[in-house]
Amino acid sequence: MSAGGFGEASPVDPSASGTVDRLVRALGRLPGIGAKSAERLAHHLIRCPAEDAIALAEAIRAARDRIHQCAICGHLTESGQEHCTICREPRRDESLVCVVEQSRDLMALEKAGTYNGRYHVLHGRLAPLQGVFEDQLNLARLEERVRAGGIREVILATNPTLEGDATARLVADRLGSLGVTITRLARGLASGGSLEFANKEMLADALQGRQRY
Ligand code: ZN
Repeated sequence: MSAGGFGEASPVDPSASGTVDRLVRALGRLPGIGAKSAERLAHHLIRCPAEDAIALAEAIRAARDRIHQCAICGHLTESGQEHCTICREPRRDESLVCVVEQSRDLMALEKAGTYNGRYHVLHGRLAPLQGVFEDQLNLARLEERVRAGGIREVILATNPTLEGDATARLVADRLGSLGVTITRLARGLASGGSLEFANKEMLADALQGRQRY
């Protein structure tokens, strides 16, 4: 029990940089941003034209306020639109559904430009050690979609990692009795790699050479 104050660190910050520290800490929590980069970005944001920094803050706020998940596939969509641009596109093949871990993977496959079916975004991968379990993935909706009929093939496009493979097996198990063909992306992709960082050709090859799973 402390009597208070005695021997404790002074609450006064001699550099008066509490606000800067807060910005550095916030930036440092972003994926791929280390302590040095966070510091550099924070100092850039303090020194750049105020309107640029405010525009960034506003873009973040608008994205958080206005972006939500598509009611069909789970991909990102703007508020006011229940379904994403891909689910609303009538020329896409509805009988083909490509299952990905996250929206970034979907966008990488779209950039490859060779796939004309629909998608389903799981919002994660099975990773029990990190506290991600089956019920946290967007799986029930996928099952509903397949049960509703009209889908002939489900392409498992989870990443070629241990967790991605385990997730693919889980999806295959869940859909196994529903009479749909299940394929897995071919291993043109580097084992242990990530769809997000694959180039267009690798992704196109992997899609082209997909195999029955
Ligand atoms: Zn959608």
